Amino acid sequence: MAFPTSSSHQLSAVRVRRSRIDGFGVFADESVPQGTKLGELTGEAISVAEARRRAEGRQRIMLVEISASRAIDATRSDDPMRFTNHSCAPNARIAVEAGAIEFFALRDLQVGEEITVAYGATHHEGRLACRCGKPGCAGWL
Ligand SMILES: [Zn+2]
Repeated sequence: MAFPTSSSHQLSAVRVRRSRIDGFGVFADESVPQGTKLGELTGEAISVAEARRRAEGRQRIMLVEISASRAIDATRSDDPMRFTNHSCAPNARIAVEAGAIEFFALRDLQVGEEITVAYGATHHEGRLACRCGKPGCAGWL
C-alpha cells in the first residue's frame, strides 16, 4: 500500500508504507546528508485547548504545538511527514519555525530507512506503547 507523496511541502523523496514501529511510517526513498531539510508538515491551525480536546481518547492523531496558544492538527494533512513515527533514538528532528513544522535529518539517511523523530513535549499522541526497539527506549509516548 502506498500513499501519494506528491505534496509540494515534501522536499526529499519518501515512501509511506507499513512500519514495524506503528501503523504506517515514512521511509527515505533517496539518500540524503545530515542536516537536509526533508519537508514540512501542514494542517489545520487550532488552539492548544482545541488540540487537547481532540487528543482525548484518540489512538492516532498528529498534533504539534507551534506556540503556547496555537497548534497544528495534521491528522488529515496530505503531507507524507504526518506518518512519521516516534523513536527514542531518532534519525530526524522536528523544528517549528514561524508557525511551519519542518523536518531535518539528524544524520545521513540511506534509501529504505524509516524516518523517525522524538515527538517530545509539544506533541500529543495519546498513550501508546513505544515499539521503537532502541536501547534506552522510554517504553511509551
Ligand atoms: Zn522507544
